[in-house]
Amino acid sequence: MFPYFSIDPRLQELSRQAEEEIRPQFEKIEEVQRYNQQKMLAAFNRAGVSESHFAASTGYGYGDRGRDVLDEVYAYALGAEDALVRYNFVSGTHTLTVALFGLLRPGDKMLCVTGTPYDTIQGVIGLPGREEPGCLKEFGIGYEELDLLPDGTPDYGAMEEKITPAYRMVYIQRSRGYSLRPSFSVAEIEKMARIAKKKAPDCIVFVDNCYGEFVEKEEPTSHGADIMAGSLIKNPGGGIAPTGGYIAGRRDLVELCSYRLTTPGTGREIGCTLGHNRELFLGAFHAPHVAGEAVKTAVFAAALFQKLGYGITPRPEEDRHDIIQVVELEKREALIAFCRGVQKGAPVDSFVVPEPSPMPGYDCDVIMAAGAFTLGASIELSADAPLREPYAAWMQGGLNYHSGQLGMLLAAQELLDEGLLRL
Ligand SMILES: *Cc1c(COP(=O)(O)O)cnc(C)c1O
Repeated sequence: MFPYFSIDPRLQELSRQAEEEIRPQFEKIEEVQRYNQQKMLAAFNRAGVSESHFAASTGYGYGDRGRDVLDEVYAYALGAEDALVRYNFVSGTHTLTVALFGLLRPGDKMLCVTGTPYDTIQGVIGLPGREEPGCLKEFGIGYEELDLLPDGTPDYGAMEEKITPAYRMVYIQRSRGYSLRPSFSVAEIEKMARIAKKKAPDCIVFVDNCYGEFVEKEEPTSHGADIMAGSLIKNPGGGIAPTGGYIAGRRDLVELCSYRLTTPGTGREIGCTLGHNRELFLGAFHAPHVAGEAVKTAVFAAALFQKLGYGITPRPEEDRHDIIQVVELEKREALIAFCRGVQKGAPVDSFVVPEPSPMPGYDCDVIMAAGAFTLGASIELSADAPLREPYAAWMQGGLNYHSGQLGMLLAAQELLDEGLLRL
């Protein structure tokens, strides 16, 4: 089956069995791909995307029609009233930060209802010990959070009690990020949003939608969320966007965010695109399919590594709400071998050997495997792991399932070659 790579025949057999078992999941994933691809094509048709929209603009970028049409395409595909899609967003964290600073004012309070937010957002908010210069806290914006229940699910009861009109924003993080909790479905997010609106009708329900786009048929903004944001070098850029982010949701709120991105008064009317429109349109068009390929890769990884005897989260048969798969390798050496195998399956820099090293913000060494066309793009097959108990790798991405599957097999092969795995 794999004439170009040396994959142990026993691994090949386990791979075949794994694929057999996950066939029902693949059918569900393909149904979501079909639906979302159709929605994306309809978005292109409706917005009248044309060759002329790929033209480059310079300077202030006044009247850049392609930029405005791209916003329309994403708004429709994400089920939102409006969207602001720009390559000028330098990361997911930057996009979320622009949205938070665009929406919140001194004296406002935000309440995160999904436990402690993603690492980089902690510094933006200014959590205790993480007060970065210029953080929300410095601007007099208050923050509180509700813990998740011990099993990692949302504490709806606590939300009912805690939320009052004193909170300007209720903040929800959809993806597990680099934790072991489950990701939240659009239905769960809708339930949180409903409680928030019941207890505080004027609050803004804000969703960090990173890693969630196109994993389900609908997005949070068509199910109770007022606004959401994410990174174009994850799901919604289709592996083609070279950088950027999006903010999507209620028109009045997107407008406020645009004043923060550029200036009060000019907002979305300015910002040249330098010839990036074509690749952003192309990335948008591919995004629903590519997100599904990444989900397939994750489900295959879950099934294969479960068969090899490792702890995995989520399980192969569980419904997915993001593209992340956790594989618990249990031992330091095994974790390193896993990441080295993933690297060997990359189209770019496959000859590089990942090494654990210190990282700012971590209390231990971190190892990362990524051989991507776009630096740091985690819609491409990648794995990150802090070298500490339970020696788990957070893997995600895979531009197409077949290469993603090979990456996972090469990770298993590396464990076998290093004598860390018995079959
Ligand atoms: C990736 C991610 C971010 C931040 O994105 P960067 O591009 O790494 O800055 C924020 N929240 C979640 C849940 C993420 O997965």
